[in-house]
Amino acid sequence: MDIILVTGGTGLVGKAIETISNQYSKYTFIFIGSKDCDLMDYDKTLEYFKLHRPTYIIHLAAYVGGLYKNMNNKVDMYEKNIIINYNVLKCAHIVNVKKCISCLSTCIFPNKTAYPINENMLHSGPPHPSNDAYAYSKRMLEVQSRAYREQYNDNFICVIPTNIYGPYDNYHMEDAHVIPALIHKCYISKKQNIPFIVKGSGTPLRQFIYSTDLAKLILWTLENYTNEENLILSVNPEDEVSIKDVATIIANKFNYVDHLVFDNSYSDGQYKKTADNSKLINLYGNHPFIKIKEGINNSIEWFIDNYDTCRK
Ligand code: NAP
Ligand code: GDP
Repeated sequence: MDIILVTGGTGLVGKAIETISNQYSKYTFIFIGSKDCDLMDYDKTLEYFKLHRPTYIIHLAAYVGGLYKNMNNKVDMYEKNIIINYNVLKCAHIVNVKKCISCLSTCIFPNKTAYPINENMLHSGPPHPSNDAYAYSKRMLEVQSRAYREQYNDNFICVIPTNIYGPYDNYHMEDAHVIPALIHKCYISKKQNIPFIVKGSGTPLRQFIYSTDLAKLILWTLENYTNEENLILSVNPEDEVSIKDVATIIANKFNYVDHLVFDNSYSDGQYKKTADNSKLINLYGNHPFIKIKEGINNSIEWFIDNYDTCRK
């Protein structure tokens, strides 16, 4: 049976793939986190890959976080991701995997750009200064994948998701991405009867994809995408919402909307990163994505049900 090794298997996207993996019973899945194998360690990575001999790799493992973690941890954002990616691709080559899909992000595209952003624009200008260290490390993952394709004919490709959210996310109030951070913050604000403070102006726009929608797209990419070019995995550009929209959905679910406050002393980050998903839709079809309100409400219910054990 073909083996799919999912690095980052304990994270937001890895858990979403695990959730739907029973629909893909022709594969044996192996989901790994850092306790199973520290991908920062080359020898351990090679030993693990040689032991399990994956047919395919879905490479999700990364040192990630929201805007403020990116701004405050640039060295780790750069070095850890460079090392993890170097090890994973090199070892994937050595054990001769049939296909390795690595995850980039629309937040690594140029800051000054035309919209909507498409796959061809990845390297055509510097990223936003708030997350440049992370962005350049991810851009090098794309360069490394392409180099293996060109020099060794390895089937190493990259997908580019937009902002992701859902169950099993990291709900840390300072370090997380905006949706999980605000869910946790609203939960605590209501408990303590204090204002629900949203950082920045609330005006920036983002395209959010629910984690299980993305999981389906990644597995579709593994089975059906035979092209070697990068592929944006995103909801439609018209489904882009503002941070204020997101904060309002969260506050409404907690019945706490009158306590919503925007703190303009914090950075807004990049104003928008509107991504063009037409290449995906032309190949995959126009399947319905989970709507943002439904996805956020599901995530809030999951967070409350798993409050004691979730990452936060
Ligand atoms: P996540 O929830 O933060 O999970 C990160 C995963 O990486 C965890 O399973 C973690 O394992 C693993 N990991 C980190 N350091 C490791 C190490 N040294 N050795 C082995 N495993 C290690 O991340 P995610 O949100 O699912 O992101 C998945 C991918 O999508 C990443 O490549 C990310 O860059 C990309 N992406 C994410 C977003 C987003 O909004 N979340 C948007 C676009 C792209 P442990 O927890 O066990 O340490
Ligand atoms: P980005 O899309 O890569 O910028 O990452 P985020 O998921 O961190 O979203 C950042 C946007 O959400 C910025 O416009 C922030 O100002 C806004 N935001 C508001 N409150 C928070 C918060 O508590 N945490 C984070 N990460 N972002 C917040």
